[in-house]
Amino acid sequence: MEKATVSIVKVSDIYQSLQESLKLSDGLAGLNVNDRILIKPNIVSWDFDLPFPPFGVVTTSVVISALVRILVEHGFKNLTIGEGAVTNGKSQGDAVFEALGYKKLQERYGVKLVDFNQDEFIATDYGDGFKLDIAKKALEADKIINVPVLKSHNQAKVSLGIKNLKGCINKKSKQFCHGLGDEELSHTFPRIIEKLPVALTIIDGLYTLEKGPGPTGKAFRKDLLIVSRDPLACDLVGAAIMGYKAEDVVHLTNYAKRHGYSLNLEDYEVKGERIEDHHKYVNYDWEWTEEDTGPAGFKKRGITGLAIRKYDSSLCTGCSAQYNPMLILFSSAYKGKPFPNVEVITGKKQLADANFDYSVLFGKCACHLNKDNPAIKNSIPIWGCPPDMGKLVEVLAEAGIECDYQEYVRFRHYLFDRYKNVEGFQLADWSVESLQESVN
Ligand code: SF4
Repeated sequence: MEKATVSIVKVSDIYQSLQESLKLSDGLAGLNVNDRILIKPNIVSWDFDLPFPPFGVVTTSVVISALVRILVEHGFKNLTIGEGAVTNGKSQGDAVFEALGYKKLQERYGVKLVDFNQDEFIATDYGDGFKLDIAKKALEADKIINVPVLKSHNQAKVSLGIKNLKGCINKKSKQFCHGLGDEELSHTFPRIIEKLPVALTIIDGLYTLEKGPGPTGKAFRKDLLIVSRDPLACDLVGAAIMGYKAEDVVHLTNYAKRHGYSLNLEDYEVKGERIEDHHKYVNYDWEWTEEDTGPAGFKKRGITGLAIRKYDSSLCTGCSAQYNPMLILFSSAYKGKPFPNVEVITGKKQLADANFDYSVLFGKCACHLNKDNPAIKNSIPIWGCPPDMGKLVEVLAEAGIECDYQEYVRFRHYLFDRYKNVEGFQLADWSVESLQESVN
């Protein structure tokens, strides 16, 4: 049997390097010029209120631009870019597409832009009781070109092509994917692809990200493109470059087992660069105290009287995005004195413990689960899906825990500023301006 091919190309000029990647992987072979092509970048989230460093978090616009240009040059006419980013309220897809320069691709090449969150979802039955609401535009596409980022993920270890398709389902289904037992994350999201015509995966490895998937992780310049017509092969190579064996990434093993695919890299053909010349471990997780009382950094600062339970995979992206602000707000409330014996619990399976005087229930799931929990002495429910940080500050203040929201604002500036003037880090990678000359 012919081996599936994965190309690894060191990026010099993006357009040339992508051409080379596609040539080595025969990437366009499965596409017909009359196909309705959906390009699915990874725009997991965006923020217009506070500084947002996209390095290693969001697919670069220079890769998307180069891809669109190549497709147009090959005669493809029916191109759509679609994404359903995580939102904490109203979807801002249009503004995000504008910020990423996609509107220029629309003007120049007639590329259609679709914010899945503002479009239709179709209830899709997988035939065995498993159901998801999938974006209509993704289901209607003849072929999907999946363009994830080479990044780590604090719950899934790596977030590559198979994981990127989670942006094709609606909020309700995203929450369902963070369930328990058979509905646990590593079983659910690898099934999304079963209903989608993914013909090509292009892992954008201009940057990589440790402790992802969001901007609180740390990015590194990597300058790689990993491309394959085989979604699993592409993810296996991406994972290997990030230092993960296939067997250690549960969603990849689940996917391979379910479909009878091999996890052995020797069963795939790698062309271009060698994995061993680029592989470097990218840490996916935050260090927590052994006693499960919070991030190791809290212990180092001498924070006591507070136990923030380590999140689990039932915490969905909405609450995950608010988790870091929550930590910073608790940290801001520490004024050298112990907290009044407080615990914080999150997600769909953590139960409050009778050893604490106050139980903060972060998010509607923790609130529902612990509503009648007799172990709770004083409940501090922070309802919301996900909870609002302003509300958190207000409710904690009533319990005598005074947080300073400005500390979180300062932290966000710090996250952004740490890439300033660092060689290789350029926000221009999230614009299409740089292609203007070569295109016109
Ligand atoms: S409260 Fe949080 S964990 Fe629960 S469904 Fe909402 S976002 Fe997910």
